[in-house]
Amino acid sequence: MSMDKIPLAGVIGSPIAHSRSPRLHAHWLRKYGLSGHYVPMDIAPDNLEAALRMLPQLGFVGVNVTIPYKEKVMEIADLVSDRATLIGASNTLIFRKDGRIHADNTDGYGFIENLRQAVPNWNPAAGPAAVLGAGGAARAVLASLLEVGVPEVRISNRTRMRAEQLRNDFGHRVQVFEWVKAGNMLEDAMTVVNSTSLGMVGKPELRVPLDGLRPGALVTDLVYAPLQTRLLRVAAEQGCICVDGLGMLLHQAVPGFERWFGHRPEVDEATRAAVLR
Ligand code: NAP
Repeated sequence: MSMDKIPLAGVIGSPIAHSRSPRLHAHWLRKYGLSGHYVPMDIAPDNLEAALRMLPQLGFVGVNVTIPYKEKVMEIADLVSDRATLIGASNTLIFRKDGRIHADNTDGYGFIENLRQAVPNWNPAAGPAAVLGAGGAARAVLASLLEVGVPEVRISNRTRMRAEQLRNDFGHRVQVFEWVKAGNMLEDAMTVVNSTSLGMVGKPELRVPLDGLRPGALVTDLVYAPLQTRLLRVAAEQGCICVDGLGMLLHQAVPGFERWFGHRPEVDEATRAAVLR
């Protein structure tokens, strides 16, 4: 019998130096005493396909995918999961033993798992959700909110056309609001999500009026640097239940880690600390 190879995984993107995924996976590998390595790889656009075809031969069992390749890898993959097709992007590739590349998307899963863990009594069916933004992350958020039974999702985006596109793709439960009226869609929303990059370090502040936020509503921000955004601070002051965006990053990594390294990892305080260190 041949000796098992040490499984390799990683994250591809460009730039990649600031990715927190290597620290996350290293923490889990150590915690569970598993052999394996997880490396950041900055790959140039022209080399993407050749790199993906070569990685399995080097011992890689899969990779995470980040900006700017989440859409491009879908064209290279041999198999695409239903949820990746629906979202139109992939953040997790599995290199199968038969040589085929399987593209999946775990962002929506991570988004929902984070909310469920942080707020166990969250009831998505209790009322409308409001989503700010219509980029790649918003697509994952929208798909997963509809899947767990939110009755209506309101979306608003600076570039209205992108929000219209989401309504076309996701159907009648999606309602589009003008960006200048984004504050209005927060009224009586039970779940509120910022999926724009506004509020992130180095980006402008999210300026949407927040006085419509309903006390008791669940408010979450996908931005996790800083952890406490203005949205979450104001929402907490208004009696909302706040969930930061780091948990989504941790939970979206669970299915990939399990698949590649053979153990389903737990997301807990130590996991957060390891990534923030
Ligand atoms: P993206 O596809 O580039 O979309 C960016 C979104 O932000 C678009 O809706 C864009 O509106 C909006 N935006 C950017 N600058 C703006 C401005 N000055 N005024 C108004 N709107 C503006 O990015 P993405 O992949 O969806 O990611 C969005 C954010 O979520 C990022 O901060 C990312 O780090 C975060 N994220 C977090 C996680 C996590 O695990 N926590 C996962 C995925 C993403 P336009 O369409 O008008 O440009």
